[in-house]
Amino acid sequence: MLAVVKYPDRAGVVLEDAPVPEYSPFEVLIKVKAVGICGSDVRIYNMIYEGKKKKFIIGHELSGEVVKWGEKVHRFHVGDRVATEICIGCAICSYCKKGLINLCDKLEEIGVTMSGGMAEYISIPARNVHRLAENISFEAATLADPLACTIRGLEMAQIRPDTWVAILGPGAMGLLATQVAKRIRRTKVVVVGTRENRLELAREFGADHTVNLNEVDPVEAVLDITDGGADYTFEAAGSSGALSQSFAMTRRNGSVVIFTVHRKIEVDMEPVIRNELTVSGSICYNYREFEIALDLLGKEKIDVAPLLQDIVPLKDAQEAFRRVIERKTVKCIIKP
Ligand SMILES: [Zn+2]
Ligand SMILES: [Zn+2]
Repeated sequence: MLAVVKYPDRAGVVLEDAPVPEYSPFEVLIKVKAVGICGSDVRIYNMIYEGKKKKFIIGHELSGEVVKWGEKVHRFHVGDRVATEICIGCAICSYCKKGLINLCDKLEEIGVTMSGGMAEYISIPARNVHRLAENISFEAATLADPLACTIRGLEMAQIRPDTWVAILGPGAMGLLATQVAKRIRRTKVVVVGTRENRLELAREFGADHTVNLNEVDPVEAVLDITDGGADYTFEAAGSSGALSQSFAMTRRNGSVVIFTVHRKIEVDMEPVIRNELTVSGSICYNYREFEIALDLLGKEKIDVAPLLQDIVPLKDAQEAFRRVIERKTVKCIIKP
């Protein structure tokens, strides 16, 4: 089968022939129908790993059809339409026992720490496989993963209706968070970014205000729009500047949730202490948030059509990565 493979000792990915994966007694073999490229795929694309690590197939935002399954798997039929969760836990650590698989001691993530689904087939534990409602397309189902991430992050801040939410970074995650905050949580939303086309999309998705930080000071603008600061700020931009701005534009006693993975960065902590902010990190999601995401997609409460405009065949995956890296597209979906 054709697969997009990451060699750990070099930047980029390689399109090559790989064997159809084996499956264990607890796994399902899926024929992949669609797989999204997300920010963490770009990070892996650019990465050169130190130490020994085997090559692996990239890709975790995927959907497809059930082909076969191991002897311990019961609830599937050939041709079932499904989407898959990224996190694979050990099942026995204290976090897994609490359902916090995303925090597992021995966490594996498909397409990140082990082979994923940017290929024609993938085998994955049955526990990670969710059936799709008939009206959810394979393409839309690839958004269940980033949508579940935003649902977890927004729940972390325990958002109340009629409050102000600021979202930094109108990428796929920020744009989905805009819709969840506005349409499900009934808040007022201001989105901060640099690209006018993405800010326009944010307005289309319900943002009450957008701020282009190339034109105005984003902190002053948000303090002004929200009359003193956002109650909840979601950092989905991935820069140290954005994190400092998130702290500075949040109301006293407000909350900041950090979505993007930050390495060592310099950040102004003064507002966190002076304004008694609550700061949380949010990573991935678990079974429940994925089910909520699929429920919202099935009930068409989230508008996904504008995020599904860029669909590329698997053989053109290199070109797709190039376009995502050059930010020519908000979301690119690969079709094996
Ligand atoms: Zn992702
Ligand atoms: Zn565990």
